[in-house]
Amino acid sequence: MKILCIGRNYRDHAMELGNTVPTEPVVFCKPDSAILQPNFPFTIPPWSNDIHHEVEWVIKIGRVGKFIEPEFAWSYVDSMTVGIDFTARDLQSKLKENGLPWEKAKGFDGSAVLGTWIPGPISQGHHSIALEKNGHLVQAGNTVDFIFPLEELIAHVSQYFTLKTGDLLFTGTPAGVGPVSPGDELEAKLDGKSLLRLRIR
Ligand code: ZN
Repeated sequence: MKILCIGRNYRDHAMELGNTVPTEPVVFCKPDSAILQPNFPFTIPPWSNDIHHEVEWVIKIGRVGKFIEPEFAWSYVDSMTVGIDFTARDLQSKLKENGLPWEKAKGFDGSAVLGTWIPGPISQGHHSIALEKNGHLVQAGNTVDFIFPLEELIAHVSQYFTLKTGDLLFTGTPAGVGPVSPGDELEAKLDGKSLLRLRIR
C-alpha cells in the first residue's frame, strides 16, 4: 500500500506559503509506516520545533489502474475520509531551500492520520472539510475550490504510479495551516461529520 499526496491544490494555501499556483499537480509520497495507528496520540518528533497540521480530504483506491482517463476516475474510488498530513515545516523549509526532497519532513512516523472511513459509493459532488484545534475552527475547505479536481488528480498520478487496491490519496490542504503543541486536541470533520479526534503530545 502506498500513500500519494498532493501539494498546493487550493489557491489560498499555495499563496499563504508564498508558493506559485501550480500548472500541474504537485505530487509526493509517504511510506506506509507514516500511518498513525487509530486512537493513538500524535507525538511531536524530537527533531522538529514546527509541526504543522494540514487537514485534507482523503480517498482510498478500490481497484488497480494505470493511465486512468479522467472520465473513469471515479470508478477507482472506494471510500473517503478526512485526514491530517502532518508536516515538519522547519525541516521542509530547509530541504526546499537546498532543492532537496521533502520525504523526511512529510513522511515521518505518524505523519499520516486517518479518520473513520465512509464507504462508497461516495457522492461525486463537492465535499467540505474542517479542522478544529482546541475547539476553534482553524482550517475549512471545500473540494469545489480544488485547483485540480479529483478526476484530474487520479488521471495525473496514475500516469506515473500504478494505483493499487488500498492505496490512499491525500488531496491537498486549504489555508489555515499552523503549528501544534503538546496538549492540543484536534478534531477533523468531513461534510460536517466528526470523523477524527486526536491528541498531541
Ligand atoms: Zn498536505
